[in-house]
Amino acid sequence: MSSSVLVIGGGPAGLTAALRLSTRGYAVRLLEQRSELGGRLISSGTGPGDCRTRHGSFPHGSAAYTEHFPTVLLGCHTATLTVLKSLGTRHLVEFPQQLRFEFLLPGPRRVRLGRPWVPGPFGAILSAATFRGLPLRDRWRVLNVLERTWEGDPALSLDLESRSGEDWLKDIGQSDTARAQFWTPLARFLTGDDVAVISASALINMVRRCFLSARQHSALAIPTRGITSLLLEPIHDRIARSGAVIRLETRATQIRFDTNRVIGVVLQDGTVSSADWYLVALPHRQLVALLPERALTHFSYFQQLTQLTDSSALTLHVRIDCSVPNPQLLLLAHRTYHWIVCRPHHDSEQKGCIMSLVAVGRPELLERPDQELLDIALSEVAYAFPGLTTAKVLGSRIIRQPHAYLSMRPGTSLLRPLQQSPYPNLLLAGDWTDTGLPASLEGAVLSGIRCAEAIITTEATENLSRVGRRQARG
Ligand SMILES: Cc1cc2nc3c(=O)[nH]c(=O)nc-3n(C[C@H](O)[C@H](O)[C@H](O)COP(=O)(O)OP(=O)(O)OC[C@H]3O[C@@H](n4cnc5c(N)ncnc54)[C@H](O)[C@@H]3O)c2cc1C
Repeated sequence: MSSSVLVIGGGPAGLTAALRLSTRGYAVRLLEQRSELGGRLISSGTGPGDCRTRHGSFPHGSAAYTEHFPTVLLGCHTATLTVLKSLGTRHLVEFPQQLRFEFLLPGPRRVRLGRPWVPGPFGAILSAATFRGLPLRDRWRVLNVLERTWEGDPALSLDLESRSGEDWLKDIGQSDTARAQFWTPLARFLTGDDVAVISASALINMVRRCFLSARQHSALAIPTRGITSLLLEPIHDRIARSGAVIRLETRATQIRFDTNRVIGVVLQDGTVSSADWYLVALPHRQLVALLPERALTHFSYFQQLTQLTDSSALTLHVRIDCSVPNPQLLLLAHRTYHWIVCRPHHDSEQKGCIMSLVAVGRPELLERPDQELLDIALSEVAYAFPGLTTAKVLGSRIIRQPHAYLSMRPGTSLLRPLQQSPYPNLLLAGDWTDTGLPASLEGAVLSGIRCAEAIITTEATENLSRVGRRQARG
């Protein structure tokens, strides 16, 4: 008989794990507290402490409206792309050559980071050398950093995890202009925080993965279809067809342990759900709230979760009555919002286009009134797209998330837990667990796959040794 797995959390991490396990014949039950699957990806801002406001015409239901908002995928999101392939939706994600990291610099001046047709590290070095957003001297210095990082220069100090990215950049001669106009916008977009906040090692890992490996890794995709039809609906259908049970509006309130195993999960109605394996795919704060005091005090593995911190995100989606010809990603320097994503509407029946403006790591912005945030957003749009100054606003949606991304501060990578917990039948998934990646869809997917593989491999090994013992006896 197949083993049973209780997956708690219906975000991308839990869904990916449930997909892999249910298609391998495991009896999977997935619990999600909300009325829809998708977690933070469907950005309704309905998690604890989150809030949203809506004006004008946007469809109701988180998954339905999220379908209209642009999602950004990177070429280095290899685990996510593999999952999309298995779901039959990979062909909907194109990485157009003309879509690049584009910086909106004071002026305003738009400058794109090139993607020359040469292998990864050489391409990155060449694109830094030709990046017109910085004076020549700064370009030379950026190039120097890339080269040192790529070659694993022995001069890269050992204390990179304990220093901020900014501190390290200053140390290696990056000017105020280079830090403010290149590194900060890039780090905000790729890690969800400022270079002054993240560790130097988080910054270097991001640069290595995105720009110094395969050329395709720095490619960008803003698919015309939303994340609901690319990932969430197909994964839900596949899991349900494999016989998994999905329970929405079901909140776990406590994890129960005996001396060395998890024995059940208490639900909000007081019932207890039990299984052979427990795969917890919740944000770290919600997980800590489910743990008994004993687990937190006995195991540093759990105790250190309480030291993790998050970066905030303010997202404002605004629908305006004009169109953009191509998908675009603009990284903003010295502005209130930190990036703008837009794409043409996939449905020609739908009027106008949606621009998503995001500001990360600025919790004070979450306190500002809606109208003020909208006014600022519209002035950013007018600044970035001078041709759209007369565009009419058809609707807007503001999502305030105080805990949007794991903050990659100095020391954080030492606190992120491996997926296998000290309890053999308990695994942790989530974009904040130790994946070596910043908190993102890719990290969530990877963590879900790792948890599922850990269960599959452990069971296969146990079965083999059982057979071996039987053969030895007989
Ligand atoms: C505004 C925004 C936009 C983003 N856009 C992108 C993008 O374009 N590209 C990209 O790569 N990444 C994007 N991300 C990041 C991505 O959404 C996250 O990295 C990803 O959702 C993390 O997945 P997860 O499964 O680890 O956690 P979550 O998505 O947080 O899922 C956890 C789930 O657990 C549920 N839950 C919590 N507590 C309980 C409980 N007690 N019982 C039962 N269920 C519970 C929650 O409701 C939630 O559904 C975005 C994030 C935000 C905030």
